[in-house]
Amino acid sequence: MSLHRHSFLGIRLTSFLSLAATATLVMPTFACRPAEDAREPADLVLRGGRVVTVDPALPDAEAVAMRGDRILFVGSDAEVGAFTGPRTDVIDLAGRLAIPGFIEGHGHLMGLGQSRLQLDLMATASYEDLIGLVTEAVAGAGPGEWIVGRGWHQSKWNPAPDPAVRGFQTHDALSEVSPDNPVLLRHASGHASFANARAMELAGVTAATPDPDGGEIIRDAAGVPTGIFVETAALLFSEAYAASRENMTSADRQAENMRALLLAQEEAFSKGVTSFQDAGVGVETLELYRKAIDDGDLKLRVWAMVGAGVPNLAEVLPAVRVVGYGGNRLTVRAIKAYSDGALGSRGAWLLDPYEDDPGNSGHNTVPLEDIAAVIRLALQHDYQVGTHAIGDRANQAVLDLYTAAFAEMPDAGEGVRFRIEHSQILSPYDVPRFADLGVVAAMQGIHAISDGPWTPDRLGETRTLERAYQFRDLIDAGVTVMNGTDTPVEDVNPIPSFYGTVVGRMNNGEVLNPDQLMTRMEGLEAYTINAAYGAHEEFSKGSITPGKLADVVILSQDILEIPDEEILDTRVDLTIVGGEIVYTRASD
Ligand SMILES: [Zn+2]
Repeated sequence: MSLHRHSFLGIRLTSFLSLAATATLVMPTFACRPAEDAREPADLVLRGGRVVTVDPALPDAEAVAMRGDRILFVGSDAEVGAFTGPRTDVIDLAGRLAIPGFIEGHGHLMGLGQSRLQLDLMATASYEDLIGLVTEAVAGAGPGEWIVGRGWHQSKWNPAPDPAVRGFQTHDALSEVSPDNPVLLRHASGHASFANARAMELAGVTAATPDPDGGEIIRDAAGVPTGIFVETAALLFSEAYAASRENMTSADRQAENMRALLLAQEEAFSKGVTSFQDAGVGVETLELYRKAIDDGDLKLRVWAMVGAGVPNLAEVLPAVRVVGYGGNRLTVRAIKAYSDGALGSRGAWLLDPYEDDPGNSGHNTVPLEDIAAVIRLALQHDYQVGTHAIGDRANQAVLDLYTAAFAEMPDAGEGVRFRIEHSQILSPYDVPRFADLGVVAAMQGIHAISDGPWTPDRLGETRTLERAYQFRDLIDAGVTVMNGTDTPVEDVNPIPSFYGTVVGRMNNGEVLNPDQLMTRMEGLEAYTINAAYGAHEEFSKGSITPGKLADVVILSQDILEIPDEEILDTRVDLTIVGGEIVYTRASD
């Protein structure tokens, strides 16, 4: 946080000086209480709890008052009474914790929405359950529309499916409830799909279809496909599914995208996310966001990065740049660039070869000169850049590019608050370079848990401890570290990702890198003020401070105080955006 502390100090100093200059004259008039505020009461008051503001000027309070879309007052229960009028809504926190709304630091909003459009079969307890959900989906689907879902698992079902072939259900019941709509449902493992007769017909799959390389069509005793397609056999449906989407009119497509966007918003609000940093979108998506804002439907605050691969980037940048559109709902002044692949697939670009693949050090996915050109464009148009870098070599290369660009254009504007997306594996040499260059590390705490169990396979024990998920070393070096989930890769829920930065216990019971954990408070800062800083928005959000946007979340328990093992049980009780309640948890 060092940089933004400096800028805070700069601002405070300036306003203090100007205040001091006039103070002798005006002091007597303003010496009494802020009477004007007291005369115009708040719209909404939260009281009787613990308010952790993430504002060092007043870190802890009992009550918050909001008027319009702004925080009006933060203080004690006794003081907030002065802001409570006959038409003020008052919510009793009953001892609960209120914090600034979570800022998702790196996710994919439309990807989250698209995944929500699919039928979620994770909770099915029997084949009958699955059939029930598909029946409902058929009722809501257009003629011939594909019904796509994911998450079923036959071995979790009770009773076991009957009839069954090799333990899997057969498609008869599915085809019966959906004779005209093709259905394709992915297994929870992702390694098989379940199709109905209509889907098989459209894909041209018959008893005569051979098993493809690397896949299997499960068949009954007569050799007839039962509806289960393992591994590459599931790809037999790709073409027919893609063809169905080509036939969509642009109005259909737009309607579907809008539905996805609003589902994503609903999910974000239910998890306490009030601002969302969208890591790489095109012009069409930005238009969709504007329309949703203009229609009054999009209340989530979106900070969208333009994908570096967007055609005619040089013309697009000035055309789409916008700050705080629609009541601080949309800001576009950053570009998302890419430099390497992912660790799981051994595509992350490393300084030394993979432990489990000694001939391979991963690779650079976009030529460095192309990234340099994007950076130059960004500085010309006063855009930030966030570059995807996972491996230590990729991070080093990106820092080198940033260094060169800053030297080339020393007078660039505020856009130079550059970021590295993921910053997952770092050479100790590069950690202080983030601070020197003012580069923000946009990390995902959840990856330290979800990818942690196999990280040492890729990197070896020593390199993992020295280089992976260096939260502590970065913070100690003075780097602004922010958190997020990369949803839909992970659940957009901030609680597990917060847990990943402050407890880090993986499913196998171990902590990947115990020396690198954050304090609880640092974990909260990473999800609020630091993420705001990473978007040039720390003056309007990221803390509960009078004058800032009234984005507040009430949690079911105090994540700053409860024992480690209770953190993951935390629920979001209430989400407030701009003083408006956008989510209330149904009581259990
Ligand atoms: Zn991403």
